[in-house]
Amino acid sequence: MNMAGSVTIREVALRDGLQSEKGFVPTDKKLALVEALHQAGVKYIETTSFVSPKAIPQLSDATELMARVKREGLCHEVMVPNIKGAARAIEAGANRLVVFVSATDAHNRANVGHSVTESMSGFSDIFLLAAKEKVPAAGVIAVAFGCPYQGVVPREDVLEIAKRFISLGADRLSLGDTTGMANPARIRQTVTFFREKLPDTPLCLHLHNNRGIAMANLYAGYLAGVTIFDTSLGGIGGCPNVPQAAGNLATEDVVFMFQEMGVETGIDLPALISAARTLENILGRPLPGQVMKSGAI
Ligand code: ZN
Repeated sequence: MNMAGSVTIREVALRDGLQSEKGFVPTDKKLALVEALHQAGVKYIETTSFVSPKAIPQLSDATELMARVKREGLCHEVMVPNIKGAARAIEAGANRLVVFVSATDAHNRANVGHSVTESMSGFSDIFLLAAKEKVPAAGVIAVAFGCPYQGVVPREDVLEIAKRFISLGADRLSLGDTTGMANPARIRQTVTFFREKLPDTPLCLHLHNNRGIAMANLYAGYLAGVTIFDTSLGGIGGCPNVPQAAGNLATEDVVFMFQEMGVETGIDLPALISAARTLENILGRPLPGQVMKSGAI
């Protein structure tokens, strides 16, 4: 067991969360959310994605948002699907690019219309541009713990994709449980395997809560040595195309757990709960987060 004294939280509500919403959240409200997260001490935010506005209209204000967003003390990480998006994101001042691929051909084809190999070869240009512009870039591997089309995903396959990302220059890897198919034992085995094979690359977990065990999965990841976790304010998002399923782990629930365990997150829980309430007001419906309802102890 590897119980780190501090962990890093990456807030994904602005991107993963809002892209699952039916309506467009106005830029001013997104800016207010970023401010509330900053007030709570959140430092890493997946702020937006430079995708086609036709594909994801909820994030069509990426350029304007990045032009107006608070910079001081914040790392704005931006998802990019291709070289065009990467160029726009760098131009807009992204502090880190996030490049994603699925672990299986079936899911990657459903998501972006390419095989894994086709996607990965398209990433060379992105990482070359990022290196030239001195912007770090991270790799994300979706459905790393199970694919809705192909079932179990061999961890060796995931490792091969991870090695490819590292050879391209990725400074961090994220493993995504995109449809909530992981369990704590599988998380422990996979994380242990990755830490053995790729000990120098920081590892992040992105865990969806479709089946209600994402918090157990997160804790298993923490015990196995992961110190970076993606979470979403209020627990929004996580499942585009699956509106009835539960979404991400709520940032405030995860921060509460770590705080009660004496693990430092650098985040102020009451201020974070207030940010979750701000988000609830913006969206106009009750959010899945638990601690925002029960309060801190
Ligand atoms: Zn997600």
